Amino acid sequence: MKISEILTQSPKPFPSIEIVPPLKGISKEELVSSIEPFMEFCPPYINVTCHRDEYEFRPEADGSYTRHAVRRRISETAVCGAIQSHFKAEVVPHLIGAGMTREQMENQLHDLHFMGIENVMALRGDCLVGEKRFTPEPGGYRWASELVEDIRSFEKEQGASFCVGVGAYPEKHFEAPNLEMDIENLKRKVEKGADYIITQMFFDNAVFYEFRDKCRQAGITVPIIPGLKPLSTARQVEILPETFSLDIPAELVREMKKHAADKAVCYEIGARWCAEQCADLLKNDVPAVHFYTMGKSDNIIGILRSCF
Ligand code: FAD
Repeated sequence: MKISEILTQSPKPFPSIEIVPPLKGISKEELVSSIEPFMEFCPPYINVTCHRDEYEFRPEADGSYTRHAVRRRISETAVCGAIQSHFKAEVVPHLIGAGMTREQMENQLHDLHFMGIENVMALRGDCLVGEKRFTPEPGGYRWASELVEDIRSFEKEQGASFCVGVGAYPEKHFEAPNLEMDIENLKRKVEKGADYIITQMFFDNAVFYEFRDKCRQAGITVPIIPGLKPLSTARQVEILPETFSLDIPAELVREMKKHAADKAVCYEIGARWCAEQCADLLKNDVPAVHFYTMGKSDNIIGILRSCF
């Protein structure tokens, strides 16, 4: 079933979860048991993130170095297959243009269509570690909107049909000169065929509501699903703003720092804040709430229990 149909048919907002493919060496059984606790809340779909290959230089006998692609995780396609065979939820593999040629993407779309997957998230992806600016593969994808366009062309050529989600940034994507232009670029993704939007995590709902209003004023009418992640350590107060270009409210930062020495208290503060955000969102006309699990389940399970 397509996410667009789930969104239209669901009588009330529902939770969805996003998982990161396991590192190589982790078994299918371990993956399944890490997802199992969420099934109590019947998430209608599970997103699976995609990670571009990294590169390392290895010394050769003649003193030169050769470049080798290194993949640390199981592919999102394999993880989607494992989830499909175990759970009743739909899977949403993330597709990233970064590091991919159009031919490679077309092959991946063939695989997903073959597997009966009807949902994808179309994303651009990021630079490799050490690169300053995003550079597409020759003839590859500079923007996610080009990927959305290619998915729609693939459907016409192959008789496939995908529901396509795209990402958005309530606090602006770090490369965009301002939020208005970022929203114009978001609108372009929708005009090229995106069916719905999932946002980057945020910690202040007012930021999300303002962003949603601006999107509506700009003429974006597709569903906008908020993305949430509970803080689980005091260290994340420094890491998350740096990694995801977002703000964490002063009150939450102060609380986390005050209890930095007590891991359990920090975990509890992060979970409580996120549960309050979620409860407030559910009162404010969101179609669903998307949780970035990042390998953690206990805190999100507690939030789901109190909110859904
Ligand atoms: P785009 O929509 O292409 O936007 C990138 C930047 O380009 C923005 O600043 C935008 O304003 C600008 N832009 C877009 N089009 C134009 C244009 N025509 N002219 C000028 N500027 C333009 N990353 C992963 O590697 N794997 C994942 O699985 C993954 N999952 C994600 C899930 C969600 C819900 C979100 C929000 C992000 C995810 N990301 C993931 C991160 C994402 O890949 C990065 O944030 C990336 O930097 C941007 O991707 P995008 O699809 O938003 O790009």
